[in-house]
Amino acid sequence: MTRPAWQLDFDCSGCGACCRAVGCSFLSGNRCTIYSRRPDVCRVGYSFDPQVMTVKEYLDLSRQACKELEARFPPKETPHGVRLLQS
Ligand code: SF4
Ligand code: SF4
Repeated sequence: MTRPAWQLDFDCSGCGACCRAVGCSFLSGNRCTIYSRRPDVCRVGYSFDPQVMTVKEYLDLSRQACKELEARFPPKETPHGVRLLQS
């Protein structure tokens, strides 16, 4: 049975860069405060269209976008210089 597109395995690090990029008010530190109820646009698999590209192409492009976002919107640091990441 084919898995729904929104169930794609995406190895999100929880860096929060995509959330910082859009200035989302639901972000606290590097964490989404409404994670279980976040909108579809925040769920990587929901934007996948198998008529446009393969799953591998989509995941590769998504990971590339994450790297670029993290470079432009790096994780916040604590006063002690510890990078905060979502678990
Ligand atoms: S930028 Fe990518 S790795 Fe970072 S939180 Fe967003 S989806 Fe996850
Ligand atoms: S709702 Fe959550 S996952 Fe979506 S952009 Fe805001 S903080 Fe990020």
